[in-house]
Order: sequence, then C-alpha cells, then structure tokens
Amino acid sequence: MEQNIQDAFANAREQIKHACNMYDECRLDLNKYELISHPRRIIEVNIPVRMDDGLIKTFVGFRSQHNDARWPFKWGIRFHQDVNRGEVKALSMWMTFKCAVIDIPLGGGKWGVIVNPKELSDGELERLSRGYVRELYKYIGPETDVPAPDVNTNPKIMAWMMDEYSKLVGKYSPGSFTGKPLTSGGSAGRSTSTAQGGVYVLEKILMLSGDEIKGKKVAIQGAGNAGLVMAQLLVDLGATIVGISDSKGGIFNENGINIEKISEIKNNRGSVVEYEDAKQLDPKGVLTVGCDILIPAALENQIDAKNAKKIQAKYILELANGPVNSEADAILFDAGITVIPDILANSGGVMVSYFEQVQNNLNYYWEASEVDAKLHKKITEATEKVYHTAKEYNTFLRSAAYIVAMKRVFDAMKDRGEV
Ligand code: NAD
Repeated sequence: MEQNIQDAFANAREQIKHACNMYDECRLDLNKYELISHPRRIIEVNIPVRMDDGLIKTFVGFRSQHNDARWPFKWGIRFHQDVNRGEVKALSMWMTFKCAVIDIPLGGGKWGVIVNPKELSDGELERLSRGYVRELYKYIGPETDVPAPDVNTNPKIMAWMMDEYSKLVGKYSPGSFTGKPLTSGGSAGRSTSTAQGGVYVLEKILMLSGDEIKGKKVAIQGAGNAGLVMAQLLVDLGATIVGISDSKGGIFNENGINIEKISEIKNNRGSVVEYEDAKQLDPKGVLTVGCDILIPAALENQIDAKNAKKIQAKYILELANGPVNSEADAILFDAGITVIPDILANSGGVMVSYFEQVQNNLNYYWEASEVDAKLHKKITEATEKVYHTAKEYNTFLRSAAYIVAMKRVFDAMKDRGEV
C-alpha cells in the first residue's frame, strides 16, 4: 500500500509537470512548477477517542494545504485504513486545480484519518469526528479552510463536525463544513452533485465528439456515493450498466445489470457480489470488461501500465480522484481512448459545496432546480473550455484541464505578488 500512496503524489506531480512543459508561462519559468508542485503545509494530529469498551484509542490524521491563492482552502475528509501522508498531499494538489478549472474561488486542501470506520460503532465514529474538530478548529473556518465529505464520510458526519465547530467558536457556523444534511444548512442537490456533474461533463464531451450517452454500455468501479448515483443517472439517460464493483468484488452481464436491485443491496450494507444474474469478477476485473464507457469511481491508482493495455472502453470518465497513473495515460492516449480527467469529471461535488457555502453566507436557500441549473451552466462552460484548449495545444484533456487551471492559479498568485 505504501507503494500506492507514494504513487499518488508522484502521479500528481507528473501530471502537473506534463502540463507545465506544454504551457509557455510555466515551461520558461521553472520557479512556477516549483511553487505548485508541493503543498504549502501538512499537519499531522493524534486524535484520542474513548472506545465503547472504555479504553482510549489514538487515531492519526493528516491535513494538507496545497495552495490558497484563490482562497479559502477547500477539501474532503477521508476516513480509510490506507490513508497516509502521500495520498493526502496528492489529493490536496488535485483540489487546487479542480477548483480553478471550474473557476470557483477556492484553494486546494485535503484531510485523511487512518481508520476503518466500518469497525467503529456509531458512538465511536461521532467521538472521532468531534475529536478531529477539537484538534483542528483553530485552523479551519468558513473564511479559512472548509472541509466536505469524501470516501467513508457523509452528511451525518459533516453535521456532527459543524455542530462541534459551532460550539467551540461560540456561534452557529453552517459555512464551516459543506455536504451537510438539509436540516443543518446543506444544499439541495449536494448528495448527487458529483455524479450529476460527471453526467454533464460526459454528455458535453460526447456531444463535441459527435456521440451521445443513449445506447452506451458502461462499466463502473465503485458503488458508493459517486459510482452508484452515476449508474442510476446514466440508466435514466438510456445507457446500460454492464459491470459494477465494490471493495468485495465485481459483476458483469453484457445484457445489463438492474441498478435498482444493486441500490437495494447496498442500502442493506451488502455487496454487489450478492447480485445473482451476473458473472463474478475481482474488484479490478470490472476495469477491463467489454464496454463503451468506463467509470473508475473508487480509489486512486487503479489503472496502470499493466491493465491499461487491456481496457476495451472508448471513453474513461474519472469520477474517482487519480484512478489513472501517468504511465497508463500515455498508453491510453496512444490507443485512442479519451480520458476525461478527474479534476473536471468529478468537480460537480465541490461546485455544489461552493454553492452550499454561498447559501450559508446568505442564509437563503435555493430550490433544487436552481442549484442544478447553476451546476449545469458552470460545468458545461468548463468542459467546453478544456475541450478547445486540448485542440489548441494538441494535447489530451488532462493536460488541457491543467493548463486552464494553472493559468488561473498563476494569475491569482501574480495579483497577490507571490510570483
Ligand atoms: P464511497 O465511500 O461512498 O464509495 C467508494 C466505493 O468504492 C465503495 O463502493 C467501495 O466499496 C468501493 N471500493 C473501495 N475499494 C475498492 C476497490 N479496491 N475496488 C472496487 N471498489 C472499491 O466514496 P465516494 O464518495 O463514492 O468516492 C469515490 C471516489 O470519488 C473517491 O476517489 C473520491 O475521492 C471521489 N470523489 C467523491 C466525491 C463525493 O462527493 N463523494 C467528490 C469528488 C470525488
């Protein structure tokens, strides 16, 4: 796992370097690459939690702040047993460029706690979540650093954290965390925003390529908040889900998988492998099945030089962060496979998180249709900009997305006198 984690950070730096080499402003000024290829600050904390048996257990957490030129830091909180420093650094770098490519005024950060939350009771999880805020509340806040959910964290956890923060600072502060339930200052549409944004990006790229979603066969790795919602939205648009997986394994049926049944299984805390009418695969097997569109929606570094050659899809939409490494990128490009990069493809979540913050500041809440219209407009404009930049620079979509984002980050740094 250590290897994987180092890879995520090396991968993030490699992606930035590749884009820097194509973009004159950065290529001709090496200081620019130096300034954006490291996070500014990493904090490690130990969070003591009283477990149900009365014993204290200490959990280790990392928080990385990459760049705040477009202020304030924005980031997701990951609870996972494999979290470590390199992964958190990589995720904070991707967040800076994600916010910039969709042009929302936020910087890049990330938080991760080494814990398998499935092994904790609800009470232990709440004490860990509140303990985390006590360790960090002096460094976070609506105008400095605003967390949101990521792998294994959810609206309930965000509500506990917001509540703890509000108590510590002595005032109700809904804008301190996003991804909250509606009853605690959440935004309509936030829980489906990552997948919905992914659908809008996919629709636009297919349209610009003279193609459409209807009739496409789709395989998805990961059946969580991002992957499962995406599956349902694509079925609604006339696609067929032929493969899906979770951490226990995967399934494949070229005639289609019933996503409502999969949702039922997952809602009962089951695994997709319990679905009967499909061939069983290992968790990575779903990446190489016969399909038109492949959607990695689990963890980073899933597609590498080894399995990239076996991919049959024509399009890959990176709903997960960092699922394709740099070696695989080159192989997929040579094979004519279009990779729609994470910093654009999964940006719907942070976009609606930003809308949530705006609504919290206004103390006025928008209808779901208003949130959706704003998401659609902004993410479609960003997709067009990335697509045309790829044509202009004769490069693939990932480097084009970084070029668009880097220009905005450097402009902000220049205006603030940092470069
Ligand atoms: P989640 O915890 O809800 O779901 C993750 C899913 O991946 C689960 O079904 C899990 O079983 C599965 N999984 C884990 N390891 C796997 C493996 N080795 N093989 C196959 N499946 C595996 O998490 P999520 O919120 O859906 O996030 C998934 C990805 O999307 C992450 O990379 C995350 O950073 C990214 N993302 C999520 C959001 C969001 O709003 N949730 C926003 C942007 C990006």
